[in-house]
Amino acid sequence: MDSTRLEARYSARNYAPLPVELTRGEGIHLWDTNGRRYIDMMSAYSAVSFGHGNPELLQVLVEQAARLAVTSRAFHTDRLGPFLAKICEVTGLDRALPMNTGAEAVETAIKAARKWAYKIKGVPQGAAEIIVCSGNFAGRTTTIVGFSTEEQYRDGFGPFAPGFRHVPFGDADALRAAITPNTAAFIVEPVQGEAGIIVPPPGYLARCRDICRELDVLLICDEVQTGLGRTGRVLACEHEGVVPDGITLGKALGGGFLPVSAFVATDEVMSVFAPGDHGSTFGGNPLGAAVGHAALEMLIRDDLASHAAAMGHRLMAGLKAVRSPMIKEVRGLGLLIGVDFHPEMTTARIVCEKLVEHGILSKDTHGTVVRFAPPLTIQATEIDEALVHIAAAIREVENATAATERISLGA
Ligand SMILES: *Cc1c(COP(=O)(O)O)cnc(C)c1O
Repeated sequence: MDSTRLEARYSARNYAPLPVELTRGEGIHLWDTNGRRYIDMMSAYSAVSFGHGNPELLQVLVEQAARLAVTSRAFHTDRLGPFLAKICEVTGLDRALPMNTGAEAVETAIKAARKWAYKIKGVPQGAAEIIVCSGNFAGRTTTIVGFSTEEQYRDGFGPFAPGFRHVPFGDADALRAAITPNTAAFIVEPVQGEAGIIVPPPGYLARCRDICRELDVLLICDEVQTGLGRTGRVLACEHEGVVPDGITLGKALGGGFLPVSAFVATDEVMSVFAPGDHGSTFGGNPLGAAVGHAALEMLIRDDLASHAAAMGHRLMAGLKAVRSPMIKEVRGLGLLIGVDFHPEMTTARIVCEKLVEHGILSKDTHGTVVRFAPPLTIQATEIDEALVHIAAAIREVENATAATERISLGA
């Protein structure tokens, strides 16, 4: 654990990793520095949807890295055009603006929405408003944490950018009531990931689509986590037949190798950008473009969305079959599943630490929720194997909790 000791000494303390030091990954598996193998049930918050070191994507990465990796957008490259065309083909939208991280894609969406409001909708300068949901997660930049409702994400980082309003997630009437003539956009995650895997009521997104169209407000879906097959459709908004005016993609778009993100939108929305308005040194670099393009081709060719739907059903059924008084709810969509534990009985952190002992890697979200979001390439036998270990870990936490209670009761 030499590296872990150095990390503890030299890293800013902005993370509290689980006690495991990883050194190698292949497919759904990770190995620690003691040679122990784990099943990755988290896939780096959905960034590793194609599995660790996916051989096809690795080959594209290595060949492209050797040929041309970074040029900036001061010049054209032979990789960017095909990548953007593929993003538009896959999403059904018109134009894409490549960035690197998810937060940058969301920042791009905010800039596009405001400029659209001024240039096209006719909102008075400086008055544009964007509606977001309580419990949203869109990254960690100052503007984005400014509209978070999570106190820790904001604490000490203000002052924040104005121009955001909140509505409860899942409540379309609240959205309608919050819209004013100055509203530029509604930015929403089809399923809230970091909030604890919150699935809105059926029909919610479709109603939001109608409301936004009727009141001349852009519907922007943040699909950084839910997109690219994760929920059992290529885009999560497809579950409701919704085509938004803009979407953000990230995480899995980099094939599990690189940070690659994009804001994708209609011609009308994207028309607000002129040369010099916005950019990124690394955004759209040929290395990221080549890998991202190959990742999208694989997603469609192998129909990973349908596979994720089937594997998601299996994992969901298996998790629901785990009988434990500690489990409050199992919920999710496709291979984005959260198990919510009763806070008075255990913490999600304790469960995750026990899962590590049982060879399962996952992460707690929001204190009480353990997420299960393996690479989309996971197979049925591997789901079944993971379920055996998950059930055993939960049983052990339960027994330990019961034993502690007996001691404290003096029994
Ligand atoms: C992870 C995430 C982001 C931010 O992505 P980063 O690459 O960490 O900046 C934005 N939106 C959603 C919905 C996310 O899950």
